[in-house]
Parts: sequence; C-alpha cells; structure tokens
Amino acid sequence: MLIHSITELIGHTPLLDLPIAVPHHSHIYAKLEMFNPGGSIKDRLGQYLIQDGIKRGLITDHTTIIEPTAGNTGIGLALATQRHHLPTILVVPAKFSYEKQTLMRALGATIVNTPASRGIKGAIAKARELAAQLPDSFVPMQFENPANPATYYHTLAPELIADLDATIDAFVAGAGSGGTFAGIAKYLQEQNPHTQTVVVEPAGSILNGGPAHAHRTEGIGVEFIPPFFQDLTIDRTLTIPDTAAFAQVRAMAQQHGLFIGSSSGAALAASLQVAQELPAHSHIVTVFPDSSERYMSEHIYDDPTSQNSESEASSL
Ligand code: PMP
Repeated sequence: MLIHSITELIGHTPLLDLPIAVPHHSHIYAKLEMFNPGGSIKDRLGQYLIQDGIKRGLITDHTTIIEPTAGNTGIGLALATQRHHLPTILVVPAKFSYEKQTLMRALGATIVNTPASRGIKGAIAKARELAAQLPDSFVPMQFENPANPATYYHTLAPELIADLDATIDAFVAGAGSGGTFAGIAKYLQEQNPHTQTVVVEPAGSILNGGPAHAHRTEGIGVEFIPPFFQDLTIDRTLTIPDTAAFAQVRAMAQQHGLFIGSSSGAALAASLQVAQELPAHSHIVTVFPDSSERYMSEHIYDDPTSQNSESEASSL
C-alpha cells in the first residue's frame, strides 16, 4: 500500500469479532480505533473539525487553533493542523496521561495545563479565555460543535454497516464529549429503529445520577450532560466501575494479544452485561477508542489486588 500522507490512514479501521466467550452465544464486535495513525478514534474528529472549520470560513491560513481536550482529541487535532501549518494550543487538565501530552508536543502543539481539580470545565474556561485574548483564533469546541457527532455519523457508523453482514441488535459505547456515541447511535437507529443504544460511563460520572468523583478510567465520564444527547434515544446507561474496566484491559492482552485502553475495557465490560440480557445469538457492536500503550506511566496493567502489582513492587 503506497500512501503520500499519514493522514490517509485515518478511518477504515478493522472490526474484530471478539474471540471471547460471550453469554448466550452472542457476538461482540469491536471497532479497533487504535489503528488510526495518531493511535485513537479522535484522529477522525481532528480531521473533520479542521476541514469543517475551513469549509465554513472560520479557519484561514493564519488562524491559531485552541481546544480543551483530555488528550486524544488533541493528538487528532495536532495531526490535522500540522498538515495545514496552523499554530495549535491544547488546553489539558493536568491529570491526563504523560504519553498523550508528550505526543501532542511532538506533533508541534503547545500545551497549556489546567488544574486537575477543575476538570474538563476548567480546561474549557481557559480555552475560551485564551481565544478572547488572541486575534484570529478558533476554538472548535468538541463539547458543543455539531461537527463532533457528525464526524462519526459520516465515517465510523457507515463503516460498521458495510463491515457487518448482520443485524445490529445493540450498540454500546462510552461517552466523554458524547460525540462518538451520539453520531453512531443516530445513524444506526436510522438504519434500524430496533437497534438498542447503550451509553457507558465510569463510576464517578454523572449520567446515571450518581455522585461525581475521580476515576481511573480515562477518556470517558462526563461532568455535564452532553448537548448531543438532547434529541437522541438512549435505551440504557451502564455505569462501569474502574475495577471491571481494568480487568478487561488485562484479559484482552493476556488472552487475545490486544492492547486496549481503559475506556475500551469499560465498553467491553458493558457489552458483556448487555449480552447477558439480550436473546441468544445477538450481535452487539462496540468501539475500542485507543490502546493501552499511552497509559504505561499510569501502570494500566497493574492489578491492585495482586501481590505482584507494579506499584507495590516499585515502592519496595
Ligand atoms: N475513549 C477515549 C480513550 C477517549 O479519549 C475519548 C474522548 N475523550 C472517548 C473514549 C470518548 O469519546 P467521545 O468524546 O466521543 O465521547
């Protein structure tokens, strides 16, 4: 395969029929988004947001792009802005992984950290403040820009329909900005109104009405209801504790040679729960947004219940 830009590799990722024991002989299919060139599903978003901003006349040759991000969107945006030679400032709460922030810098973006305690809301406020000070700047604002769900509606969702020669009984995906879930759920429901849609959050996120608190699962979890959920039919919200998500992260590597991040682990734990409740031989589709490799500094494979856990070993 001859290509002329790394960005040609964005999208058209594989859909894996997971070789695991699924309740009631059902199948779980996972879209392997870590195979995008920037390592996550957010390469699609970065490309779409920049193309959309240019098309709408909001981005010129000299515009500075400013965006609040948990990291993967920053990497996707930096890949896209590098191609267009646009200066880029990414506002990232300090809690997000060292690897993601290092990759954003490597691509040429400037990182501004906001206090971890102020969460993504703190990063959003800081991005707006910077944009107000900087003439000819543009904040794509993934948390409210309709181009966010549109990215997945127009790219990933049709790929699922093309890849899978079966009726999709349930679609299960995590929510951070909610763009992935909203865009794909809308498309799939238009194709088949019987497809159940299940949104996944970590314990500590507010969708199910539980109290907000910190969680280890990275990339999903919301501090406010995503505006993209307004006109959407959401059949269920599943809240997955960190322990259940990380157990799936370890199992996928140990048994199936697949490196998945913790939001993928949560999506898999939720998909297994959905399979338990659906009729036999159901087809469940989920999304694995990124790989474990960008969470090594956070000891992603460390089992806190194990005697040989890395953090215990390193503290000896
Ligand atoms: N998983 C990971 C690893 C992510 O970085 C993100 C984006 N924050 C998501 C899931 C959730 O995607 P979305 O923002 O589209 O809800």
